Amino acid sequence: MERTILHMDLDTFFVSCERLLDSRLNNRPILVGGTGDRGVVSAASYETRTFGVHSGMPMKMARMLCPEAVVIRGNAGTYTQYSKMVTEILKERVPVLEKASVDEFYADLSGMDKFFGAYKFASELRTTIRHETGLPISFGLSVNKTVSKVATNEAKPNNRLKVDKGYEKLFLAPLSIKKIPMVGDKTFQRLCNLGLKRVANVQQMPIEAMESVFGKNGIVIWKRAQGVDNSPIVEYHERKSISSERTYGRDTTDMQKLKTSLSAMAEQLAYQLRAGNKVCSCVTVKIRYSDFNTYSKQLRIPYTAADHILIPKTMELFQRLYDRRMLIRLVGVRFSGLTGGHYQMSLFEDTSKTANLYQAMDRVRNRFGSRMVMRAATMGAKTIGGNFNPFNGEPPIVLAHRTQ
Ligand SMILES: [Mg+2]
Repeated sequence: MERTILHMDLDTFFVSCERLLDSRLNNRPILVGGTGDRGVVSAASYETRTFGVHSGMPMKMARMLCPEAVVIRGNAGTYTQYSKMVTEILKERVPVLEKASVDEFYADLSGMDKFFGAYKFASELRTTIRHETGLPISFGLSVNKTVSKVATNEAKPNNRLKVDKGYEKLFLAPLSIKKIPMVGDKTFQRLCNLGLKRVANVQQMPIEAMESVFGKNGIVIWKRAQGVDNSPIVEYHERKSISSERTYGRDTTDMQKLKTSLSAMAEQLAYQLRAGNKVCSCVTVKIRYSDFNTYSKQLRIPYTAADHILIPKTMELFQRLYDRRMLIRLVGVRFSGLTGGHYQMSLFEDTSKTANLYQAMDRVRNRFGSRMVMRAATMGAKTIGGNFNPFNGEPPIVLAHRTQ
């Protein structure tokens, strides 16, 4: 079936939010990120890019490259608020919406051309977002996700681009192969070494050659280079969540035991968020007393996937919830309001040390199993969660009610 896929991306999102709050920042070079000695750049305005600054770079280096830049410590709360504002506008207006990250969206506009014209519709949508939020946003429109995303990136900043059906290959051909969304730095290096620097070079390769060098990935890269991508829009659900719960063999009021279970569950779920490249914006804690009465409390928070935010929030909710001093039969934790990427949003106040710690812990978990490294505080909890990625299209985890 012929499709019409829209990709929208807010331009230098964190920087744009800061400029809305303080117009003196307009047209000046801005760096947003951790401001400490070991902070990392999360977003850099276009004015800084000519100095060789890019996101992910140590803040110290960025400051050296662009000394006149205004450096701002990021605020996850502000960005979450604006991200949700844009999501609401889109949700009301498009039939099927995917929130790919805090500042990036896909919508399926198939069939709309007959009645309205998808390009006109998308342009008006962009105008509405700019008027209602003040944020600059760009879009790409084509027959699939890959071509639309590349089109958005070519349109930036603050513009739009449509690739007509049948012109996908022609549009992609002159571009660097690095612009194909799944080609990372390492793959790009390997492609360059083979003389495949442009999309056109890959287009002319036999698919078998790509497969023999890059395996299955080679086939996907080859197809995307031809402008072929059948991946569907994965609809965004505010209530999509991951959760974990534990029923005790014997009902308990042992605070140490209860807290240990809860923080182990929160730690495990936070790891699963990061493994799936997701962040969440709501924490819920549930308790069931021995009389089977069940209570829960929830807390909205800025998008995060960080243990040092999620574990204390879980504890705080439990403290507020547990007021009957009765025997407890079950405790549970749920993270909801999930969306993709931007895990660094939770690290503005911290140094790259914290980021490195998480990365190191997650690497060990990926290799040897999720319970190979853990906080000392959660070591008492034996059987929380499993080592799998809950974002592979599987339904949310429902843990068997294990006994200790
Ligand atoms: Mg963006």
